[in-house]
Amino acid sequence: MAVRSVPREFRKDPTDLSDHERYALYARWLDHADPAIRANALICLIHQTNYLLDRQIAALEKQFVEGGGYSEQLAAARIAHRNAEQSPDPNIPKCPQCDGLRALRTAKTGKNAGQQSWRCTAYLECKGTAKV
Ligand SMILES: [Zn+2]
Repeated sequence: MAVRSVPREFRKDPTDLSDHERYALYARWLDHADPAIRANALICLIHQTNYLLDRQIAALEKQFVEGGGYSEQLAAARIAHRNAEQSPDPNIPKCPQCDGLRALRTAKTGKNAGQQSWRCTAYLECKGTAKV
């Protein structure tokens, strides 16, 4: 119990300590004359290490399940970057009726044959057009 309570005895983050300073925290048991006390201290520290590793593995597993693995996150970042690069040209007018993308079309027949217009890419469902 004394070995396990050591981290609670100091307020400093143990990761800020040097190896020598960390060892000094447990030296009274690890350097004890009685080999049984040294062995018990080591068993206690091994047990604590296993407990913390189990918690870390569980946290990493949860993070993986919720956020995906490394390569999955890389692929998602790449797709987001590519989509940002391929965002529509701001000079292309949006459809006034559905706010969708429009494409430049040239009429092949009818009274406007040969004329260009920005036609909604959802043409047929949406009739939004604008003359060039
Ligand atoms: Zn439209």
